[in-house]
Amino acid sequence: MPDSLPWTCKDILDATGADLLSGKGENLFSAIATDSRKDLQGALFVALKGENHDGHDFLEKALAAGCAGILMEKTRWHEVRYLFRDKTASVFGVENTLKALGQLARHRLSLCGSKVLAVTGSNGKTSTKEMLGCIFRTAGPCLVTEGNFNNEIGLPLTLFRLKPHDKWAILELGMNHPGEMERLSAICQPDMAIITRIAPAHLEGLGSVEGVARAKGEILCHMKKGSRLLINGSDPNSERIPLKEGIETLRFGRHADCDYSMENLNCHAKGSSFTLHIKNASPLAIHLNVPGAMMAENAMAAAAAALIAGIPEDMVQEGLASFRGFSGRFQPLATETGFIIINDTYNANPDSMEAALTQTVRMADRGRSFAVLGSMGELGKDAAALHRHVGALAAQKGIHALYVCGPHGKDFAEGARSAGMKNIVCEDKDRLAAMIFPELKPSDRVLVKGSRSMTMESVVDQLLQAA
Ligand code: ATP
Ligand code: MG
Repeated sequence: MPDSLPWTCKDILDATGADLLSGKGENLFSAIATDSRKDLQGALFVALKGENHDGHDFLEKALAAGCAGILMEKTRWHEVRYLFRDKTASVFGVENTLKALGQLARHRLSLCGSKVLAVTGSNGKTSTKEMLGCIFRTAGPCLVTEGNFNNEIGLPLTLFRLKPHDKWAILELGMNHPGEMERLSAICQPDMAIITRIAPAHLEGLGSVEGVARAKGEILCHMKKGSRLLINGSDPNSERIPLKEGIETLRFGRHADCDYSMENLNCHAKGSSFTLHIKNASPLAIHLNVPGAMMAENAMAAAAAALIAGIPEDMVQEGLASFRGFSGRFQPLATETGFIIINDTYNANPDSMEAALTQTVRMADRGRSFAVLGSMGELGKDAAALHRHVGALAAQKGIHALYVCGPHGKDFAEGARSAGMKNIVCEDKDRLAAMIFPELKPSDRVLVKGSRSMTMESVVDQLLQAA
């Protein structure tokens, strides 16, 4: 799909400081593309080096597909210059194409002049960002990150969709190594940021919860004086974020001393409601059509940011009520036989496991809670202990029976057993649905959750088919 504004050669040269290695300086580019399998007609193809592929190996293909220009690393030019003899395509040479992609995104953002609201944190980024999308769209045109396009490639690709009339860009920022968030912050330079919470996740790259807080805190690096940061006042780990002078920090949380706080939270199987208290303003009644206290927490952050951005209260209420959840994020699915499957298979870390187990048990309008848990990835040296911890939590919170799988299945099981649980099955993932199905009564609910690499959605599919 073409970008909203064509790119000129001057745009590319100004944004990236590139050398024009070949072709004319008058070409226009309809879009910026990084995937040689997509429609490249009239586009500028940016050759990125990924883990598995190097875009420089696809330049001939990109030319054949009709791209109007190439942005590549200068050091590779001697290998490919023969491809461009007698060609009109413009070739731009830079030191680092990934960096240049970010610079192009920055250029587009400056051109459109949109304000930026960035969402990061260990859990709840996509859910919060989608809630913000529901709210901000009721007030006017805005750009919202699609799905999980939150890294150094996804963020620029998102910003290339920005249109001049978009007042706000609502952007999800994600990372798993120190330094990445600083680069994302340099690209989008947020006017406002939300850090949803800080928890043990991506510990292989970040070392410790302290490391997570520092790395997320890099979002502040390129925020200007007077911009605002919202952090989670009921998450003790969020207090480890290194704050920055000149940036106003506001807290949302369950305690009354937060700037935005929650009272009378009422969670049920289909949704929740609460009163949002705002310092120096009247309270606001919030209704959500998605279950789980963690989603209410995300809604509190989204409402706070929207109110700060000047969105009227009724639009905040309306927007949040229209949010219907996001695939694989604590999504209740009714079955024909009556039991409910809670599809939380998108991802997992110890923090989101705890939240999901707690909420599954709390949804107990009726019946028993079952949990099918796949192992959690990227937890480094503490992985076994963290799985035992989650197993123990399942027992303590009152899960009736636990089904576990994956490389740390045994650790989940050991933790649950040591906390007194009896009904534990540790098996191959593909056998779990057949084992659990005969145990389920119509009034029960089953949480299914695990890291992305465990693709636990296959268990959900098998249970849905059986039911
Ligand atoms: P990712 O890092 O994979 O992009 P994310 O931060 O975007 O994840 P979501 O996709 O919204 O987060 O949700 C991921 C998981 O975290 C889901 O299992 C969801 O139920 C859980 N979750 C969402 N919000 C919270 C929260 N506020 N606290 C704890 N867990 C949460
Ligand atoms: Mg996400």
